Amino acid sequence: MKVLHSIQEVKEFVRSQRSENKTIGFVPTMGALHEGHISLVNQAVNHCDICLVSVFVNPTQFNDPKDLETYPRTLDADCKLLDKAGAKAVFLPTVEEMYPEEDKRTFEVGAVAEVMEGAYRPGHFQGVMQVVSKLFDIVEPDKAFFGEKDFQQIAVIKAMQKLLKLEVEIVACPIVREASGLALSSRNQRLTEEERTIASNIYRVLKESQKLVGAKKPKELVQWVTEELNKIEPLKVEYFEIVNAESLASLEDWSEAKHIQGCITVYCNEVRLIDNISYSNIN
Ligand code: AMP
Repeated sequence: MKVLHSIQEVKEFVRSQRSENKTIGFVPTMGALHEGHISLVNQAVNHCDICLVSVFVNPTQFNDPKDLETYPRTLDADCKLLDKAGAKAVFLPTVEEMYPEEDKRTFEVGAVAEVMEGAYRPGHFQGVMQVVSKLFDIVEPDKAFFGEKDFQQIAVIKAMQKLLKLEVEIVACPIVREASGLALSSRNQRLTEEERTIASNIYRVLKESQKLVGAKKPKELVQWVTEELNKIEPLKVEYFEIVNAESLASLEDWSEAKHIQGCITVYCNEVRLIDNISYSNIN
């Protein structure tokens, strides 16, 4: 696996692959890699000729400086995992390489970037769009692979792709979970064993909520999930919303959308965890 540090090196690598007519699958990450990330690499390896991964903790998407500071960084282990998974190259830029000057661009993609995570983490998705658009510009991938764990992020990236008229195909990949049901996340490294067990209640309650769709309206189900989780110390629901999976608009009634998703953010002490579940076609 090639380890690339500069934009120039990536462009040369991509050019050489293109000259051999290879298709390029791209997986952008912030490192501290786990099986969730590796599932995206596997998809890229299976669907494209070569897979290129970036590992970059993007400062512009952190609205909380403490979160940026404490974000786990495990570069050596990351490279070993990527090599084993069959990635052909990894791009490890510095902040200076990605942002030689302040990025002042904003992307007008509408409500998908303003609700839920957009409301609770102001500027987060603008930062995500800054870095992903720069990476797309450098790599020019045929396909880019994103995890449904960050459900809203996929909607935002698709909206950005439409806005900028980019040719890359955005591929959404299913959430990888621990046996307990807890969605794998780099932030799980910050949980104690006990907290990790408690955090598995998030998925348990979401799964249970699927069974109540017939009995409760969306707003009632939101209340039920929130109350069930808030009963469990030290979980604290930041938000739970049941939305149209395409527009991300909150629903009053199940009949308002064909594809419906419940999106949640829960604090387990200091650690912010996100998850989501589908309510489509379960009746
Ligand atoms: P991150 O490093 O957290 O920015 O994540 C990089 C990519 O991996 C994003 O597209 C995430 O949605 C995806 N990802 C993270 N955790 C998981 C998971 N448990 N299952 C599937 N994809 C994931």
